[in-house]
Amino acid sequence: MKVDAIVIGGGPAGSISAMGLAKLGLSVVLLEKRAQITRKVCGEYLCPRGVDLLEALELRTEAEAMFSKVYGMNIYTSSGTEVLTEFPTTKAVANYGLSLNRETFDNFLLNKAIQAGVTVKMKETFSSIERRDGTWCVQTSNGEQIQGNLLVGADGRNSSVAKSLSLFNKVDSRRLALHVYFDNTAINYRKGEMHLFKDGSYIGIDPTTEREINLSLVCDRNALVDSEPIEVINKYITESNNLYRRFKTLPSNTKVYAVSPITSSSKDVIGSGAALVGDASGFIDPLTGEGIYNAIRSAHMLVSSVSKYANNTSFNFQRGLKDYRRVRKTDFREKNILNHCFQWLIRRPYLVELVAKYVNKNTKRRNIFVGIIGNIYSPAIGILKLLF
Ligand SMILES: Cc1cc2nc3c(=O)[nH]c(=O)nc-3n(C[C@H](O)[C@H](O)[C@H](O)COP(=O)(O)OP(=O)(O)OC[C@H]3O[C@@H](n4cnc5c(N)ncnc54)[C@H](O)[C@@H]3O)c2cc1C
Repeated sequence: MKVDAIVIGGGPAGSISAMGLAKLGLSVVLLEKRAQITRKVCGEYLCPRGVDLLEALELRTEAEAMFSKVYGMNIYTSSGTEVLTEFPTTKAVANYGLSLNRETFDNFLLNKAIQAGVTVKMKETFSSIERRDGTWCVQTSNGEQIQGNLLVGADGRNSSVAKSLSLFNKVDSRRLALHVYFDNTAINYRKGEMHLFKDGSYIGIDPTTEREINLSLVCDRNALVDSEPIEVINKYITESNNLYRRFKTLPSNTKVYAVSPITSSSKDVIGSGAALVGDASGFIDPLTGEGIYNAIRSAHMLVSSVSKYANNTSFNFQRGLKDYRRVRKTDFREKNILNHCFQWLIRRPYLVELVAKYVNKNTKRRNIFVGIIGNIYSPAIGILKLLF
């Protein structure tokens, strides 16, 4: 099989890359290792800027018909301070995010790729990737050989493509995520929640539907040494007056999903004739809930960069890839720095308290703060708005 582009991974980053490349007139094949797209360990919250990006991709109306809106984020510090926020209204960006269901959302995007002409091969991965005379030769797990000029690695945090291209950067993270869905009897408002703990752990809550709560705990791996996953979740719930008051503890037979590592990093986002997008290209931490947005954004950037170096039907992929690296670096820089600062901050409860007190001074500050987290404001603009 000979194609223009081979995309590996059928999550948001892979589907949006494949769809965009197909719309440029390229022949695209996408390999997804799972037999079908199912729900993933994820807070399932799409930030407001992500809603705007769906608009640019002409997917917003359909997505909004499928999922409920979230209008803000309530943040609770380990000392019990409450920072109750709503996303600010601006001209450019939606003032709400969406509570997704990843099975529905990921299938929706994958179907859009198929409609754009992408050949999707489910239950298919690669056994080897080789570059021969400027062409990628991918041997699939089912013994097929696919040749392509452009290779896109969209296979998530533990990217095998990044490893094969020697672009994988091992992150020494001790964090893991424990994740549950349970009946929603305690939240009747459309907001996400973030509960911070003294040891730097946190619980994110998304009321995905009127009947269901999606809860993710991010904590140190050591927490599991002497305890079952559900006991660990219940320990943190009990530590928070706010959570305990509403949820008590979860039944011991609640199904808990665990994932580790929760971060990823790459040495570079491009190689010769190849690009990494989404988590495969780097993911800092779920704290600010923007992994899905970043996955779609990086895929969209790759497609825009590739399209810049097209001449009728001939594409200069290498120039497009270099442009992707440059644009992406500039675009992601500020928020990456801020997210690393947040990671440092949440391990220092006294500083968290100071920031919470400052932000809590008035509604405007609270909403600007959540506007920065939701990418409504860039960090620089948002911080200026907070200070002056
Ligand atoms: C606990 C937790 C909570 C989170 N909460 C949020 C949140 O609320 N909001 C948010 O925006 N982000 C959140 N994230 C992050 C978000 O889930 C990811 O950033 C997002 O899924 C990245 O999309 P992706 O397409 O890059 O990768 P993925 O969604 O991981 O998709 C990768 C795809 O590639 C496939 N694949 C993997 N290896 C191969 C292979 N070798 N061959 C073929 N296919 C392969 C996989 O099956 C998968 O379908 C959270 C993450 C964690 C861990």
